[in-house]
Order: sequence, then structure tokens, then C-alpha cells
Amino acid sequence: MTPTAQTRLALLLGDPVAHSRSPAIHNAAFEELGIDAVYLAAHVRPDDLGDAVVGLRALGVLGANVTIPHKQSIIPHLDALTPVAEAIGAVNTVVPQPDGTLLGTNTDAAGFFEPLRPYAERLDGAETVVFGAGGAARAVVYALLTEVRVARLTLVARSPANAEALADDVAHLDPLGAVAVRADDDASEAVQSATLLVNATPLGMHGAHEAETPWSAAADFHAAQIAYDLVYAPAETRFLREAAAHGATPLGGMAMLVGQAAEAFRLWTGQTIPHAAVLRALTST
Ligand code: NAP
Repeated sequence: MTPTAQTRLALLLGDPVAHSRSPAIHNAAFEELGIDAVYLAAHVRPDDLGDAVVGLRALGVLGANVTIPHKQSIIPHLDALTPVAEAIGAVNTVVPQPDGTLLGTNTDAAGFFEPLRPYAERLDGAETVVFGAGGAARAVVYALLTEVRVARLTLVARSPANAEALADDVAHLDPLGAVAVRADDDASEAVQSATLLVNATPLGMHGAHEAETPWSAAADFHAAQIAYDLVYAPAETRFLREAAAHGATPLGGMAMLVGQAAEAFRLWTGQTIPHAAVLRALTST
């Protein structure tokens, strides 16, 4: 659809943004549904973030996404946060309100949980392990504590202090004390007994980390496990390959990427994202 004077604008604010898949996802969805809007990626440096948010208001955008490194630093520039953004402590989606104010929310938790929904019964009362304690891990932990009642959620992180801080921040969502922190060299038992293993680190990602995995003792994987990698490029990481070779069910990060976009798209347009068109766009570009 050629842009016109009525075309609405949606933006991604990040630094860097050049490799983002979000424009491909949202523009394919606008095109498929005949929505007169365009999604662009804006490279916004940290010092310019406040001005960029003022710009979102002034331009009357349809909506915005926020990515690294602005997910936390955007919070003071917004007018209000949803409870989920408040609990996770990070915003990935900005939803303009009818009164002109900007509401920050977080769709990563919903996007993360979507591919797990068919396994929800299996996860109730299950033991789980999350590798990493960064922004994505926060959304994962929020989802696992609110969508299902896991019996144990072990955070395995190279910086235990960050994992302890995450555990403290979600303590109000964890009345049964399910969250525990383990160092890499003290997590074998937790990994072996986990039903769900989640990689929320960049290990395995295309580029410098591609040959790496968050858990190199592949003999700890087995057929009763789900191995979920948030990394989506490549589609099959070393972690997923080794887990699948030991019988585990592999889940790649692409479904979460589409899931978080679908929730943002619904908040901006009120419509369901056209999954088939989006997946076609992602595999053809
Ligand atoms: P982040 O905030 O930078 O956190 C990264 C985490 O990984 C931190 O806990 C960090 O440890 C740990 N880590 C980094 N390098 C490591 C290494 N060499 N060895 C061990 N641990 C290491 O990043 P994020 O936003 O959470 O993203 C994490 C991953 O999830 C990325 O690969 C990202 O692409 C992916 N992701 C995917 C989706 C999706 O939709 N599929 C959405 C969000 C994120 P320290 O605390 O010690 O630094």
C-alpha cells in the first residue's frame, strides 16, 4: 500500500535497530489486513530518548516498540505503566491513549508464554530452569509465576547478583518461594529434574556466540523436557540441537518474537495479527 496523507506511523526506538525483524512483521501484517499504516525503525541514542518520546506524542503515532537499551530507561518519560510492565520493570510497547497520554506495557511475557500454552498442564507444579537474568529473563520469570504455578524456578546466571536482584524483584509474585538462584557449576541437579529449560542468554545466537550453549553437559537433557531457546537466529541453536538429540521437545525463539509483536499489534489496532502472512515475510527476508 503506497503511503498517503492519512497513513499512520508506528515506530521502533532502539540502538542499534538495523537488524530488527519488527518492521518485517508489522508491515506484513498492515499490508495483509489493508491497514493504512507503516512501521519504521528509528535509531535513537540514549541521550535522545526523552526527545524521541516527546516526538511520539507530537506526531500522534499509532504505537511504538522499544528495544535495547531503552526498555528500562524509557519508563520515566511515559505517563503510565500497565501492571505487567511495572512488575517486569521494563517496557517494550508504547500504546497512545485517546487523551494523548502514553501508556507503557510489556508484551514479551505474553509472547514468551504463547508457545507454552499447549504444555500448561505439564508445567503446573513442575520444576523449571531459566538461564540468564537480564531483561528477557524478567519477562520469562513473570510469565512462569503468573501463567502457571511452577514448583521450582531456578535461575542459573553467570552473575548471581543479577539473578538475586531479579528474585527479590519478583518476590511478591512468589508466595511459595519457588524462585532459587544457582551458579553454573552448581545447577546439574536442577537441570536434570527440570521439565522446562529456558535459554534467556545470547549464547547460541548467530555471530560470536553461535557455537555456545547455556548448558554444555548435554547428557543432562532427556525426553521429559521442553527446551525453549529465546534466541531466534539461527532457528536451531546448539542448545536446541543437543536437547532434541536427547529426546527433549525443542521450541525456538521465533514464536515468541511473533507472539510479542501480535500482542502489540492487537493493542494498537484491535486486530489479530495474520500469522501466516507474518511468517511468510520473516522467512522470505
Ligand atoms: P540482556 O538484558 O543483555 O541479558 C542477557 C543475559 O544473558 C544476562 O543475564 C547476561 O549475564 C547473560 N549473558 C550474556 N552473555 C553471556 C555469556 N557469554 N555467558 C553467560 N551468560 C551471558 O539481554 P536480553 O534482552 O535479556 O536478551 C537475552 C536473549 O534473549 C538475546 O539473545 C535476545 O535476542 C533474546 N530475546 C529474544 C526475544 C524473542 O522474542 N524471541 C525477546 C527478547 C530477547 P550478565 O547479567 O552477567 O550480563
